[in-house]
Amino acid sequence: MHSQQVTAKQPSSDRVERDVPGLWSSASGADPAPLMFDVIIAGCGPTGAMLAAELRLHDVRVLVLEKETEPASFVRIVGLHIRSLELMAMRGLLDRIRRHGRQRPAGGFFAAIPKPAPKGLDSAYAYLLGIPQPVIEHLLEEHAIELGAQVRRGCAVAGFEQDDEGVTVELADGEQLRSRYLVGCDGGRSTVRKLLGVGFPGEPSRTETLMGEMEVGVPQEEIAAKVTEIRETHQRFWLRPFGEGVYSVLVPAAGVGDRAQPPTLEDFQQQLRTIAGTDFGVHSPRWMSRFGDATRLAERYRVGRVLLAGDAAHIHPPIGGQGLNLGVQDAFNLGWKLAAQIRGWAPETLLDTYQAERHPVAEDVLDNTRAQMELQSTEPGPQAVRRLLTELMDFDEVNRHLIEKITAIGIRYDFGEGPDLLGRRLRDIDVKQGRLYGLLHRGRGLLLDRTERLAVGGWSDRVDHLADPTAVLDVPCVLLRPDGHVAWIGDDQQDLDDHLSRWFGKPAN
Ligand SMILES: Cc1cc2nc3c(=O)[nH]c(=O)nc-3n(C[C@H](O)[C@H](O)[C@H](O)COP(=O)(O)OP(=O)(O)OC[C@H]3O[C@@H](n4cnc5c(N)ncnc54)[C@H](O)[C@@H]3O)c2cc1C
Repeated sequence: MHSQQVTAKQPSSDRVERDVPGLWSSASGADPAPLMFDVIIAGCGPTGAMLAAELRLHDVRVLVLEKETEPASFVRIVGLHIRSLELMAMRGLLDRIRRHGRQRPAGGFFAAIPKPAPKGLDSAYAYLLGIPQPVIEHLLEEHAIELGAQVRRGCAVAGFEQDDEGVTVELADGEQLRSRYLVGCDGGRSTVRKLLGVGFPGEPSRTETLMGEMEVGVPQEEIAAKVTEIRETHQRFWLRPFGEGVYSVLVPAAGVGDRAQPPTLEDFQQQLRTIAGTDFGVHSPRWMSRFGDATRLAERYRVGRVLLAGDAAHIHPPIGGQGLNLGVQDAFNLGWKLAAQIRGWAPETLLDTYQAERHPVAEDVLDNTRAQMELQSTEPGPQAVRRLLTELMDFDEVNRHLIEKITAIGIRYDFGEGPDLLGRRLRDIDVKQGRLYGLLHRGRGLLLDRTERLAVGGWSDRVDHLADPTAVLDVPCVLLRPDGHVAWIGDDQQDLDDHLSRWFGKPAN
């Protein structure tokens, strides 16, 4: 079974794309099995788990299929950037997650140029949360399950076929399951993307890097002095203390053989000797891995009833720590839209705004990682550009622009003409009932109304209304989408109704 390219039939329910031939095949001619789920998600990484949770907020029947039988034990520390912390706050998850992480100052993200964050970053969560990736994955999966998502481990998606009613998903053991939609959150080597035949253009990996955590055999002062000296010319190198005698080690992999094999301690020792003249007595590794700098972006995020999110849709070097953040934010953008489609109230084009909004964001992240990788080169030209950018970052505007890019708080979706706030996310502000984000836990829209004379009328089953003249806003009213982006600004009821229709479909009565 695979994604078929045969003559399209007109879909009978749910709007699906009509420009791709062969989406509604009925390969065998037999009646398909009943729709057991609304959405099947391939992959229970951070993107898949977040998406499952978002869909469950709207009572969507979700099954997550994960090929691994056990959660990953590979302890890579990742950083949750400001926008992701805001998303967690919006769903009431931040306190739970924060207990497992370490807060670090925001700043020093772009190409690891050591500049502190500019003053007054526009967020109540203006820091980086360092947290092991398996922990964040576990917490997101736990959250999805608590909300009612089913997760089946040891189940690899091996094929699928879509027709006008849904998608038949085939597992590696031949079992078939059926749902209305399938979302590939199955990582950079995505089976779903490949079966879909979606192009993944970009650049192959050019530089490989070893990364791991291990103990060292020499005093910290000795390491610190050597690391400072080497980092003057080699940016892809560090030995950073990680607590309890463990160091995070990053070193170029040039010359280390077989890419298909995991690196060994001897590989680390040899590479350290090559670059630093000593292996610092590294021993007792906790984990070791190797990654490249391939940079690729899926040509499209949706083909009919099958969508892509997270690393399945985009890959890039880990510099700036953006990949997991980007995937989780994809899921946050997609979740309520797909739920609306399934619940039947989605406006005609809502689901397609997922690609329209998120593809350009990924394009921008890919570009900034390309730029950062260039700035890590030891060649004289890039080193000179790095020195120049380091100077430029003393200008508050430059520094702010770069940090808003990496932390994703600078994103502005194109919702058409309007004030600068339109299309941006709204920071967490004080409202009379506490914090704004506290009112978004259920994943519904919100009208924040300082005039106290507007109403959400027939949309009240999807949109909450908070009349609060004291809210700290310099506009009369805002309509927030479930992802916290500003969908409308104004004070006119008719104009509001038009925008409620645009984002939340027809009123219930
Ligand atoms: C060294 C390194 C450091 C990094 N540091 C950061 C950082 O600081 N910050 C940051 O934001 N990002 C960081 N990243 C990137 C981050 O790890 C990824 O972007 C993130 O894991 C992507 O999440 P995902 O859920 O989209 O995909 P994945 O995490 O790859 O999850 C995909 C899941 O799908 C499963 N799967 C695959 N195929 C199938 C199938 N056929 N059927 C069912 N299941 C399947 C896999 O087993 C896996 O569980 C780093 C990456 C590396 C390599």
